[in-house]
Amino acid sequence: MSDTKARVEELYSILHGMPELGLKEIKTAAFLAEQLTKAGYEVQTGVGGTGVIGVMRGDAPGPVLALRADMDALHHIVNGIECAIHSCGHDAHSAMVLCVAEQAAKRKIAAGTLKILFQPAEETLQGAQGVIDAGAINDVDAIVGIHLRPGQEAKRGQATPALYHGASYIMETTIEGVTAHGARPHLGVNAIDAAAAVVNAINAIHMNPVVPTSIKVTKLHAGGAALNAIPDKAELAMDIRSQDNGLMEELLKRAERAIENAAASVGAKAVTKVKGGVPAAEYSEEIVELAREAIVAVLGKEGLLPPITTPGGEDFHFFVKRKPSIKAGYIGLGCNLSPGLHHPEMKFDTGALIDGVNILLYIVNKMVGLKS
Ligand SMILES: [Zn+2]
Ligand SMILES: [Zn+2]
Repeated sequence: MSDTKARVEELYSILHGMPELGLKEIKTAAFLAEQLTKAGYEVQTGVGGTGVIGVMRGDAPGPVLALRADMDALHHIVNGIECAIHSCGHDAHSAMVLCVAEQAAKRKIAAGTLKILFQPAEETLQGAQGVIDAGAINDVDAIVGIHLRPGQEAKRGQATPALYHGASYIMETTIEGVTAHGARPHLGVNAIDAAAAVVNAINAIHMNPVVPTSIKVTKLHAGGAALNAIPDKAELAMDIRSQDNGLMEELLKRAERAIENAAASVGAKAVTKVKGGVPAAEYSEEIVELAREAIVAVLGKEGLLPPITTPGGEDFHFFVKRKPSIKAGYIGLGCNLSPGLHHPEMKFDTGALIDGVNILLYIVNKMVGLKS
């Protein structure tokens, strides 16, 4: 076994042994910061909460390349006991990126800057925005992420140069009507009538079916204890998905208008709020091409998968949304993962970690040049 392969597996087993939830990655951050410092990086901690940044500069001017790994584990209940488990593989991502950082430090950077970004709280979709607010990507020209893929999508020895996550948002609506005695409904505005009109209006929105896009009502609460009174309040929530950010924006606008008009049609008022979400993936063709080259170099032509589209969300895509000039890429790594991500018994072949390390090292070498 090569030293690097043994090292990434060692880093993985250390991080796997300290699973911590989003923004509580205290031990994880301390370990990552300590290893980066040892390797000779300029280290910044507490970035956007518990994030860690390591910076290494080359002698000549050049681009700033950031490698981003998420750090957080998931909350699970196993045999009635609450616990944190690394069931999304963020320990693997941090191990690979830290191992790449160590290798790059040994070999030295020729030109530009390598920025190692350990981002907290991906699972709660807060972490990326937190590190962006802290200025983490102000100077970054290109950013690359990596994620383990379930066995159904990619096997060990395979990788995709681009993983296209969808945009996903939640909308909440409160409807206000006018209460009245059940015997005198003409004096009130029934919030349930308004809610029913809203549900129909939402279901009548049709977007271009060529791009996977959907909106569904996922919550409807109305009425109370008094079954002989006209209810004056209703609450709805909508789950909204699209593989395209432009379509998502249009859908949010159309939904808001449909809700307002539907409620008004029976004399009620609707207040709608977008309760957060994540944008869809937007990648730089240059980085995707580089990732393709890297995968072929490491795994051979037979290891190169086409781009993969997944309906799941990733807060990585805030980097491009908040800084559109940044060139982004996101690799999906096959590792015979089963039974699935977010499963408390998620397992994968740790022998695949070295593949991820070599793919990322290839990209680092092409962008900032490794001296040896
Ligand atoms: Zn996850
Ligand atoms: Zn994940």
